[in-house]
Amino acid sequence: MQHLFHHDGEAALAAALRQRPLLAFDFDGTLAPIVARPEDARISQAVSTRLKALAAQLPLAIVTGRTVDDVRGRLGFEPRYIVGSHGAEDPLVPAAAAALAAALEPVRERLRARQAQLADAGVVIEDKGASLALHYRLARQRAQALALIEEVLAPPDAAWHLFGGKMVVNVVPRDAPDKASAVHGLVAHCGAGCAVFAGDDVNDEPVFESAPPHWLTIRIGRDERHSAARFFLDSPSETAMLLERMLVLLCAPERP
Ligand SMILES: [Mg+2]
Repeated sequence: MQHLFHHDGEAALAAALRQRPLLAFDFDGTLAPIVARPEDARISQAVSTRLKALAAQLPLAIVTGRTVDDVRGRLGFEPRYIVGSHGAEDPLVPAAAAALAAALEPVRERLRARQAQLADAGVVIEDKGASLALHYRLARQRAQALALIEEVLAPPDAAWHLFGGKMVVNVVPRDAPDKASAVHGLVAHCGAGCAVFAGDDVNDEPVFESAPPHWLTIRIGRDERHSAARFFLDSPSETAMLLERMLVLLCAPERP
């Protein structure tokens, strides 16, 4: 992976913008810095203003593990698309979310049965309908909290898919769409020539892995050396610089 702000990355960004891309961004760790309490996550005014300006020129999507309603209130503008719950809450398939939420009922029962123990260990359960998130960032003993989560969810059920994230274990129905199916669906829906996608976590890798070569994929952070993204940026503050760079390139006159 190369840094996006080197020569090859600059050329790839300019090439992607010439194809009238879908611009798609994860939220936490990509647009907004990771914070101890997920409810405190915010994007800066500069990021909000730049996203709004980009959304006036190109189709723009926020593709997040949060619920659609949760992230909508954190943006300061209305993007054309918001996909929530890691792809499971998709505006193009609105009926799917309710069925996916019902499929997680057995997981909720298991969590309810061990609720007090999980709370004592510092595990915060977030029910997002079509997905569940078990956060252990605030646990005093994170390794023990993670072991307890794994024990409560064992044995694994074929009907669910578990995947880790940054101090979180996510549970989604096995057949739920992921971020990759969501982004490919949006590209087709809006007739975009390609996608520019940035994300920072495990659930963003399916997008990187499934991207055709003319898409531009960017991993935020260097914590995953084996990421399938083509380029990386170091932090959400560099994402803010990327947004500004896109606006400059979109305003620049076409070279002969
Ligand atoms: Mg993220």
